[in-house]
Amino acid sequence: MDYQSAFQDAVRRVKAEGRYRVFADLLRRKGDFPVARWRTEDGKVRDVTVWCSNDYLGMGQLPCVVESMKKAIDDVGSGAGGTRNISGTTHYHVELERSLADLHQKDSALLFTSGYIANEATLATLGKILPGLIMFSDELNHASMIEGVKGARCEKRIWRHNDVAHLEELLAAAPKDAPKVIAFESVYSMDGDIGPLEAVCDLADKYGALTYLDEVHAVGLYGLRGAGIAERDGLMDRIDIIEGTLGKAFGVMGGYIAADGAIVDAIRSLAPGFIFTTALPPALAAGARASVEYLKAAHHLREQHQERAASLKTQLLAAGYPVMPSDTHIVPVKVGDPVLCKRISDMLLDEHGIYVQPINYPTVPRGTERLRLTPSPLHTDAMFDQLVEALDDVWERASEQAGVARG
Ligand code: PMP
Repeated sequence: MDYQSAFQDAVRRVKAEGRYRVFADLLRRKGDFPVARWRTEDGKVRDVTVWCSNDYLGMGQLPCVVESMKKAIDDVGSGAGGTRNISGTTHYHVELERSLADLHQKDSALLFTSGYIANEATLATLGKILPGLIMFSDELNHASMIEGVKGARCEKRIWRHNDVAHLEELLAAAPKDAPKVIAFESVYSMDGDIGPLEAVCDLADKYGALTYLDEVHAVGLYGLRGAGIAERDGLMDRIDIIEGTLGKAFGVMGGYIAADGAIVDAIRSLAPGFIFTTALPPALAAGARASVEYLKAAHHLREQHQERAASLKTQLLAAGYPVMPSDTHIVPVKVGDPVLCKRISDMLLDEHGIYVQPINYPTVPRGTERLRLTPSPLHTDAMFDQLVEALDDVWERASEQAGVARG
């Protein structure tokens, strides 16, 4: 086997499809978000405005979050020193889990090292716990949920995105007594649309299913205390398992589920992705807890965030850009071609100091490549104007160049 060529060929195929990923080397400076320092390939350093961060509210730099992390490091050092079962559970983890259970008004919460692992480990473990399980998964669920459903080794039914009539058809056709889990998201991260929470809860009641809701792009951002769309819509008690991240609106890192005590105890006892890995560093748990508690009482930030997103959409539409319909803070601008998408992104960065990562297949379907903009309360009107002026300057030129490159 020529291993070298196999690896090189794999990358060549990715490149040929225009979806080879290049990381922007960025340094966020505390207090300056959304401005960051970008180091170019030839080692030069420039200030850029970041338009694609999932630290949606800039919480990762909020003094109370940063100070609680520093204090935790000063008090207890760096790592947790073990898995949660073997010496790695600290007061910080326990208190953060309490804070998250309170946020979602559930008996318990359980921390994982990321939202990805929370989804993958929990969904896979449901398959072990519920013999004969049938999993009903929205077709646009995140990769971590897809991996979890695969890992559950159970029967699965994929329902068309947000199509509750299709979901009902599939539920009605399944054996009445089989255990069922409906897995879906509240805010879909690439289109910015919202799942039909209430209708899914109604179907879950009718067909005796559990509901599993990924609120990764909603926690911190929706609801009076930031518990997500289920809180906003008064449905928290009807969602059996809520999954979230500490790495996006909360600005730190880690993932979790919140649910009733029996569910959490079973996942805690059986999920390899929880059991066999080192616990989060205490400082991350301290920072995340500070952030969660802060946002419970900072509804004004959520309002500012919504205002920024709405006015960016209005401004881009008025300037003639194809903003995709979005019900949320996510502002996707459709480009529809991977090469063009990357070119626009490169030119915005090189020529205007505007950083927005191109979103290509497989993150989104081919032909729907886009710029995914995520304005925060810290993006000013002047930054909005600068963005639109920069798009006006590069869009046509990039289209011509991409046409030449492809032709
Ligand atoms: N679910 C969804 C819908 C996501 O978009 C992501 C991250 N992109 C995750 C889960 C994983 O969360 P984390 O980044 O905390 O691993």
